[in-house]
Amino acid sequence: MEPPGPETEDKARRAQAGHQEILGETIAKFELFRCGWNPYSRFLDHEKIDLVARKNTGAEILYADVQVKQSRLYRVSQGWARELFDLTSWGFFNPKRFEHCNPNLVVAMVLVHRETDDGASVTDYTSDMFIFGAQEFRNLLTMAVPSGDSVKVYVARASDGSGRWFWCKRWRKGMGLDDSSTVDVTQNRQAFHILDDLALRHSYDDRRGEYPPAMTKPEVIAGFLRAKKPEAYCDDCLYEELKLSTRQQAQVHTAAFAVTSDFSRSRGTCARCHEEKYVTTAV
Ligand SMILES: [Zn+2]
Repeated sequence: MEPPGPETEDKARRAQAGHQEILGETIAKFELFRCGWNPYSRFLDHEKIDLVARKNTGAEILYADVQVKQSRLYRVSQGWARELFDLTSWGFFNPKRFEHCNPNLVVAMVLVHRETDDGASVTDYTSDMFIFGAQEFRNLLTMAVPSGDSVKVYVARASDGSGRWFWCKRWRKGMGLDDSSTVDVTQNRQAFHILDDLALRHSYDDRRGEYPPAMTKPEVIAGFLRAKKPEAYCDDCLYEELKLSTRQQAQVHTAAFAVTSDFSRSRGTCARCHEEKYVTTAV
């Protein structure tokens, strides 16, 4: 079966939306809990936030806001698409909704298979949950397929058995798995460390008996670069200097900063390791 067009499916999707959100939220809660987070969904005051996830590491208490998006996964049947992908989800997003987000907001995309057979519907979830920082998600939305005021988001799995997943910049014959057509989002699958990176953190200071103001990792990186201005730093050095959880996370944040007017990113010499690399600086 081909992914149905928006006109035919829209009504059915809306009717199911309530049920889908609950299913997605339940899966997201279960996965977060499995990874050491306690998710709360009661009495939240903000439409963008479906869950607040809290984690006590012993040294710190972390809080991340989570928006849950559930999409259905379809088996790809179009000939041209089947050469690239075996499964895809699609859905409409309003890019404006992610313009002014809390820095600790995370988007959890829960992809669920639903097969309909003999009138019975079977739902299956096989760990296809993708985690994005809201900033990263916003950047990705600028690269989704334009559709009126919205964008159409396709997240599809490569049919070559490699287990790679792609965010599609286009969805048409002639596209490939290259950078001009897709963004590889394999590393975002089950990427719960992104919550650790973006969470607001409270560390209790025993000597002073108080909590210092909470800062997110992007705020820490931005603050460091501003303090060191005009020095430029590579992602590896930011990772080491600021004790980020992964190297890749430094890159995610600096790439996001680079699209703002407050920072620039280009090839240059790193002030710390003195190597010629991509470096980021406050301007
Ligand atoms: Zn360096």
